[in-house]
Amino acid sequence: MVNTKYLLEDARRGRYAVPAFNIHNLETAQVVLEAAAALHSPVILAATPGTVRHAGCGYLAAIAQEACRQYDLPIALHMDHHETFESIRDGILAGFSSVMIDASMLPFEENIARTARVVALAHRHGVTVEAELGRLAGVEDGLAVDDADSAYTDPDRAAEFARRTGIDSLAVAIGTAHGLYKSTPKLDLGRLSAIREKVDIPLVLHGASDVPDEAVREAIARGICKVNVATDLKIPFAQGLREYLLAHPEANDPRQYLQLAKERMGAVAVHKIKLCGSDGVCP
Ligand SMILES: [Zn+2]
Repeated sequence: MVNTKYLLEDARRGRYAVPAFNIHNLETAQVVLEAAAALHSPVILAATPGTVRHAGCGYLAAIAQEACRQYDLPIALHMDHHETFESIRDGILAGFSSVMIDASMLPFEENIARTARVVALAHRHGVTVEAELGRLAGVEDGLAVDDADSAYTDPDRAAEFARRTGIDSLAVAIGTAHGLYKSTPKLDLGRLSAIREKVDIPLVLHGASDVPDEAVREAIARGICKVNVATDLKIPFAQGLREYLLAHPEANDPRQYLQLAKERMGAVAVHKIKLCGSDGVCP
């Protein structure tokens, strides 16, 4: 399993982004792995705290380990939006190769302190750390952030944050939100360029589901090296499953009734990989 640090540094040099797909179980992992293999793309499998509660760190790590044996691809297993030192420690010990500590809800100095503590632990284990400064609005995993509580990332503070914590990558808040949008989001691309000028580590775009492709491409051109995709994959999976079960009310074999869900999700994963420009990156 690879460390995302190298994936993201390669992406920065190559001016593309590595897709990070939120998975929930074996089938959703298979979908994104097959899409990545078909397109010769590096891939990050991401698990939120809710997914870790649902599937367990050990099973998720075992799926990723097996994927590394089956696919000749750079594959990372990443903890997405974990908020406590303890949950990140459990993931690292289970075999995750990359973690995000999200202490963005805390005041600046407390965010730095919690993040730096995670960096010290993770780097001892050769694990990459992403952190967040600024707050994205929206709902992820049942955690809601009000529009009023959301805040864009300040470029100077971002530079200080990166320097004082020693993180490997930074999630920026530039106008995206988690989940679906009420109206078409407008990204603050000028702010992204200003952050890029001042911050020397790879930048990460969260909340990119439902953002127009053109805006995502422009964000990558301005320095985004990792694009997170969660909601945009959940919807086609659920739609495919619903459609199949409505058409086949007698169906009771998960190996059959999950097929259409996987196909629908796979088509979106393929689209996202091409959008990131990471297709064809791996020999
Ligand atoms: Zn996120």
